[in-house]
Amino acid sequence: MHLVAIGGSDAGISAALRARELDPACEVTVVVADAYPNFSICGIPYYVSGEVTHWRNLAHRTVADLEATGMRLRLDTTARRIDVAARKLLVTAADGSEELLAYDKLVVGTGAVPVRPPIRGLEGPGALGPGDGVHLLHSMGDTFAIMRTLESASPASAVIVGAGYIGLEMAEALVARGLSVTQMEQLPQVLPTVDPELGALVHAQLAGHGVEVLTGTAVKVIGQAPAGGEGRLRVEAATTGGEPVRRDVDMVLVVVGVRPDTGLAADAGAELGFKRAIAVDRGMRTSLPDVLAAGDCVITYHRLLGESYLPLGTTAHKQGRVAGENALGGSREFAGSLGTQVVKIFDEVAARTGLRDHEAAAGDFDPLTVESEADDHKAYYPGSHRIAMRFTGDRRGGRLLGVQLFGHRHAEVAKRIDIAATAIFHGMTVEDVSDLDLSYTPPLGSPWEAIQIGAQAWARQAGLR
Ligand SMILES: Cc1cc2nc3c(=O)[nH]c(=O)nc-3n(C[C@H](O)[C@H](O)[C@H](O)COP(=O)(O)OP(=O)(O)OC[C@H]3O[C@@H](n4cnc5c(N)ncnc54)[C@H](O)[C@@H]3O)c2cc1C
Repeated sequence: MHLVAIGGSDAGISAALRARELDPACEVTVVVADAYPNFSICGIPYYVSGEVTHWRNLAHRTVADLEATGMRLRLDTTARRIDVAARKLLVTAADGSEELLAYDKLVVGTGAVPVRPPIRGLEGPGALGPGDGVHLLHSMGDTFAIMRTLESASPASAVIVGAGYIGLEMAEALVARGLSVTQMEQLPQVLPTVDPELGALVHAQLAGHGVEVLTGTAVKVIGQAPAGGEGRLRVEAATTGGEPVRRDVDMVLVVVGVRPDTGLAADAGAELGFKRAIAVDRGMRTSLPDVLAAGDCVITYHRLLGESYLPLGTTAHKQGRVAGENALGGSREFAGSLGTQVVKIFDEVAARTGLRDHEAAAGDFDPLTVESEADDHKAYYPGSHRIAMRFTGDRRGGRLLGVQLFGHRHAEVAKRIDIAATAIFHGMTVEDVSDLDLSYTPPLGSPWEAIQIGAQAWARQAGLR
C-alpha cells in the first residue's frame, strides 16, 4: 500500500501521520511544493511581531521528527498532474526533473491561495510585488519576503488591505515593530465575521493602539509614490460614498481572504462544490476513485448548515486525519465544523462559534439574538474584566445556535467560546447551558459562569424564564 499526500501543511501531514500511526507497514510519501513541511502558518504574525524569535520555531515538527514516523518527504517538489486511471502522479523536482509516482491512494491537501483583489498595480504588466514592498501572506515564502522588506527597507508605515482576522493580527504585528499602520476595509466594519456591535469594540481596540482604521474604504490602486514624499508607495482608495482616500506609505500588505487551490484536482476531473472547493463526502472522498482530499482545498461540512467553506487550521487537521484513516480502508467521518474561531487584537480577544442571526435565518431557523455582559470572575477579586456576549438561539425549540464574545485576553474568552461550541455541537438548548455543572472559584469565575449568564439573558428575552 502506497499512500501519496500532496501538500505539507495541516491537511497533508495529518493524513500522512494518521496513516503511519494506523499501519506502520504502509508506505507514505508527502509531496511538498516548498521546503517547509508542517509549519504553523497560523503563527506567522507572531514571528513577524518578534514574539516568536526564529522562523524555525514555527515548525509543529521538524523534518527529522516527520521522517522518524516513517513517512518520506519530497520537498521542493510540485505535483503537476493526476492520472486517475493509472493511479500515477506526475511531479517536478526543484531541478526541473519530472517523475511519475505510483500510488494506491492519493490525498490532495493543496490548501488555499490568497485572493488577489482587483486592485490596479497588483496584477498584470508592471505589477508591484515583494521587491517593491507590496505583499500577500499565506506561506513561509511570503513570510520571508515580508521579513526582507522589514529588515532591509526599514519601513516606517504600512497600509493593510483587509480587516479580517489575519489583517488584524498583522496590524498588531506591524505596530509591535514600530510601524505606523493604516487598515483599509471595504466593508462597513472590521472583523466582518462577527456582528457590528462586536466589530465596533475591535475597531476601538485597534484605534486605541494607534492603528488608523478606515472602514467602508475600497482600495483601487497601488502604485509608486512620487519621489521625495513621505512613503515609497501610494495607495488610492474610495469610500463607499465616493470620497477619494490617499495614503503614501513604505509597505502594503494585502490580506483579503483565500480561495481553495483546486487546479490539480479539477484538471483530473474532480467535482467542485460550494465556493468551487473540491466536493468531498464526510469521509473526505472526492468524486475520483482512490483520491481523497482535505483542508482548505475542500468544502466544509457545517453541522448546522451542511455544505459550506470554512478554511481553518483546526478543520484541516481533523479532515486530514479522517482522510489518512479512510485511505487505509477506514470508515471515519468528519464530524463537522461550527466555524469556531478566536482572534487576539492587542489586549482583547474576539471569538465566535455557530451561527449569527442572519446566517441562522438563511438556514431555516427562527433566530433571536440577545446581547449581554458578565464578569470573567468575581469583580471583588482583583483583575476582573467584563465580557461582551451575543447569544443566538432558535425561538422554535430553544436550541443554542451561536455565540460571539469579546473580552480581555486574560478573560478566558477562547475557552468560554469552546464551552458554547461544545454545547452547539451536541445540539443543546440555551436553557441546557444554564444547567451545566461548571467550575467556580472567585479569582477565576462566578457561581453562574459568564456563558450561563448569557444563556439566561437569552432565555429571559425569548420569554422562557
Ligand atoms: C497568517 C495566517 C494565520 C492563520 N491563523 C489561523 C488561526 O489562528 N486558526 C486557524 O484555525 N487557522 C488559521 N489560519 C488558517 C490555516 O493556516 C489554514 O486553514 C491551514 O493551514 C490549511 O491547511 P491546508 O493543509 O489545508 O493548506 P495550506 O496550509 O494552504 O497548505 C497547502 C500545502 O500544499 C502545498 N501544495 C500546494 N499545491 C501543491 C502542489 N501542486 N504540489 C505540491 N505541494 C503543493 C503547499 O506548499 C502547502 O504545503 C491562518 C492562516 C494564515 C495564512
